[in-house]
Amino acid sequence: GAERTKNVLILMSDTGGGHRASAEAIRDAFKIQFGDKYKIIVKDVWKEYTGWPLNDMERSYKFMVKHVQLWKVAFHSTSPKWIHSCYLAAIAAYYAKEVEAGLMEYKPEIIISVHPLMQHIPLWVLKWQELQKRVLFVTVITDLNTCHPTWFHPGVNRCYCPSQEVAKRALVDGLDESQVRVFGLPVRPSFARAVLVKGELRRELEMDLDLRAVLLMGGGEGMGPVKETAKALEESLYDRENKKPIGQMVVICGRNKKLASALEAVEWKIPVKVRGFETQMEKWMGACDCIITKAGPGTIAESLIRSLPIILNDYIPGQEKGNVPYVVENGAGVFTRSPKETARIVGEWFSTKADELEQTSVNARKLAQPEAVFDIVKDLDELSEQRGHLAKVSYTLTSSFASLV
Ligand code: UDP
Repeated sequence: GAERTKNVLILMSDTGGGHRASAEAIRDAFKIQFGDKYKIIVKDVWKEYTGWPLNDMERSYKFMVKHVQLWKVAFHSTSPKWIHSCYLAAIAAYYAKEVEAGLMEYKPEIIISVHPLMQHIPLWVLKWQELQKRVLFVTVITDLNTCHPTWFHPGVNRCYCPSQEVAKRALVDGLDESQVRVFGLPVRPSFARAVLVKGELRRELEMDLDLRAVLLMGGGEGMGPVKETAKALEESLYDRENKKPIGQMVVICGRNKKLASALEAVEWKIPVKVRGFETQMEKWMGACDCIITKAGPGTIAESLIRSLPIILNDYIPGQEKGNVPYVVENGAGVFTRSPKETARIVGEWFSTKADELEQTSVNARKLAQPEAVFDIVKDLDELSEQRGHLAKVSYTLTSSFASLV
């Protein structure tokens, strides 16, 4: 039939770099695969259209992950279904009007949620609008293993799971097999499909051309024991006897400016590059031989694509905990919280245990799913084509829910 542009609304929140990275990955893959057929709108809808506490999610999240115990309590105390249902119901009743106004503005035919707290409310609004039969609503889960139950909503058309482990949980939580697909975590196409040569990258990034390189980071916010680990690495990568380095280090601090300036002030014995928020992560990863990071799903998925052995040194309690066994049990890396132990492992990988480094790299590559994001958008396109005969979605402002509230 006649082609017309379909609106796709991606709901995300800037709680950590991961959700935004996934949202942008999906947007870019739509563009590459389908050109102008789809118009993609990435929105932190709650921040723009709703009041506290939803518009404050980003700030509360940052506060809570800094105070991990608090976050632990919040994560686990909101886990039982009845608690989060009541909590969300209360919020929804209060803010539904504004959420509805948000949906009105964009008139999406496909809604993609990449956030654990963005299924219930938009699905309720669609129901009140009697649109749930015409608007596709799908969830793209961005946690690799243990994820919060609010991710799973039986009312979705699709639930895209990054791993079999997550798919199992989805089925236990009441989703039907027909709703679940396992393609992998969406990673930006510019990243997943990049053709990179290590030597060229090192020249471009002004790194040492011969020394092995370790990449040290802590997610978009530069969290975890980055500074302590950098200091320990300086020792383990320096050969005292011969007075020369056996490796080099890149530290990416993300949005943590304090960390970056503290590390820049140090006089290092080995070649070190300290960077702030980098927009070309694929290049830095491609130039290095292993990575040290907290267990963020985005960073892990990207490292696997670049065949990087991973040392996980931290995780956000709750949603990131399961990412650890995912990496370790698949032989793609190790977990240790100790900066000294981390530095010792890298030192060995770069000297006596080069074969172990190589094997871990091979295992990492086996886990990688660079095409996941394309599989997701192709599946969505098929779903949308299947509904093609339905009339263009019309959003009309109703006051039907006013009586419900
Ligand atoms: N990232 C980036 N530049 C930086 C630091 C991080 O582009 O300087 C990206 C990184 O490549 C990944 C995301 O931010 O895609 C971090 O997501 P992750 O899930 O690892 O952790 P989060 O920050 O969400 O807790």
